[in-house]
Amino acid sequence: MDPFFATTREVFDQEAASIGRTFVRQPVVWTQGEGCRLWDKDGRRYLDFFAGHAVMNLGYGHPAQLAAMRTQLERLVHTGNLYYNEAQVELARRLVKTSFGGKVFFANSGAEITELAIKLARKHARAAGDSPDRHEILTCRGSFHGRTFGALSATGQDKYHAGLEPMLPGFRHVPFNDPEAMAAAITPQTCAVLLEPIQGEGGIWPARREYLEGLRAACDRNRLLLIFDEIQCGLGRCGTRHAYEYYGVVPDVLLLGKPLGGGLPISALITRAAVAESLQVGDHGSTFGGNPVAAAGGCVLLAVLEQPGFLQHLQATAAYLEGRLAALAAAHPRVVKSARGLGLMQALELHASGPEAVGLALQEGLVINCTAGHVLRLLPPLVIGQAEVDEACGILERVLQALEKKKA
Ligand SMILES: *Cc1c(COP(=O)(O)O)cnc(C)c1O
Repeated sequence: MDPFFATTREVFDQEAASIGRTFVRQPVVWTQGEGCRLWDKDGRRYLDFFAGHAVMNLGYGHPAQLAAMRTQLERLVHTGNLYYNEAQVELARRLVKTSFGGKVFFANSGAEITELAIKLARKHARAAGDSPDRHEILTCRGSFHGRTFGALSATGQDKYHAGLEPMLPGFRHVPFNDPEAMAAAITPQTCAVLLEPIQGEGGIWPARREYLEGLRAACDRNRLLLIFDEIQCGLGRCGTRHAYEYYGVVPDVLLLGKPLGGGLPISALITRAAVAESLQVGDHGSTFGGNPVAAAGGCVLLAVLEQPGFLQHLQATAAYLEGRLAALAAAHPRVVKSARGLGLMQALELHASGPEAVGLALQEGLVINCTAGHVLRLLPPLVIGQAEVDEACGILERVLQALEKKKA
């Protein structure tokens, strides 16, 4: 394909001239990817530890995933949900088989599938004969569930609500990892609890196991749906197929998104068959939801997660990364506040400026992200190995040294 613009500078200028500013973009134009490598328009090669926001879990151009998506693309791009679509059916079949079973519903994005979870929670209470008063959903402070009004109202971060109030009624935010606060917030109006097992956008905060176990018991006692938003932390990211498997706590509803379509938008809600019956014909719809090309990519992702040894290798790489990050934190206490994470969802929380560190890393050829102001977020493709961890941590070491020098 011919490039659209002659130079990197031209892309920056045309972007500024024609796209509204809702993102702070890194000064780089990606033109190619392979595995865990990216190339910019000037031909420079980078190591990617962000994976397009935990989307490219198999890396760029994974041969089997690319082949499946290309075949589907050439045969049939889209026909819509009034007809059967084999790739979508196969993805659903695999999702059911590799989770706690039941039924699957599809949408396009994380926000949309969160909307469906909100609808399901309310419909499920109605289906049980409860009064419409029983519609409140408890969510956590520091959470992120998406940008549509329902998902945004569920999101427990004021900065995302600013200037957009009023939020929708029916949500209550309680402190994360605080079982007493959650127990105290449950009322006869509560119908569900929605949370990320590992908060992503909020700064990479894993839930404690006892917290999720306690929530499971509280939801059972009070007939609440327990909804896990694994849109970022799911599908291998934490070293297990699903994050709930790591914790050994099975939710009633599981939300998947980001990596599910091999880079194309698709999201899924999995629930037990009995709960799925609370949604009837006409209760959910989407023009694009469950697109066959995206679904074909998802089938390959799920197949790769099932390959013997894949998750073990991932867990070993993750343990190695965790050790290297802990060592970096110990060696640079003046700039690093803490290292934390689970699997290949890791963070270094800084005393220094996060965005500055991201910029320095990029100059050194490493793509990382900053979230929650001071938290360097690492979400590498799941296909990295020790060599990539060594390379990334070598760069991070130099970045931390540079930040230290500035502080001195
Ligand atoms: C990204 C994200 C969402 C929203 O997904 P979109 O596809 O951007 O709408 C929801 N929940 C979590 C945990 C996410 O990380």
